[in-house]
Amino acid sequence: MAIPKCPHCAGTQFELQDETIVGAAFTLTVIRCASCGAPAGVLENQNVSQALTVQSEKISALHGLLSDLQQQVSVLVAATVKPPKAPREKKPAAPKLVAAKA
Ligand SMILES: [Zn+2]
Repeated sequence: MAIPKCPHCAGTQFELQDETIVGAAFTLTVIRCASCGAPAGVLENQNVSQALTVQSEKISALHGLLSDLQQQVSVLVAATVKPPKAPREKKPAAPKLVAAKA
C-alpha cells in the first residue's frame, strides 16, 4: 500500500486541526501535514453517520412516546364520548286483558 505523502514537503505524518473558515456554516477539520502544515484534505467536523444514529435513536424514542400517547388518548376518548342514543323504539302495546264472559 502506498504511503500518503504531503504534496508540499513529502512528509508522511498527518494531523487533524479544527479550523473555522470564513463563510463556512460550521467548523471543518483539516487534515494537514504534521511537518509543514500544508492542508491535505478536509473533513466535516461532525460525524454525519454518528449524528444520523443519534437522530434515529431520538426518532425511535419519539415513536414509542407517540404510540403511548395515542393509546392514552384512545382510552380517554372512549371514556368521555358517549355513543349516540339509538332512536327509541315504540314498545308494542301491552295486550289488553278482557274479562272472560261467563
Ligand atoms: Zn508537508
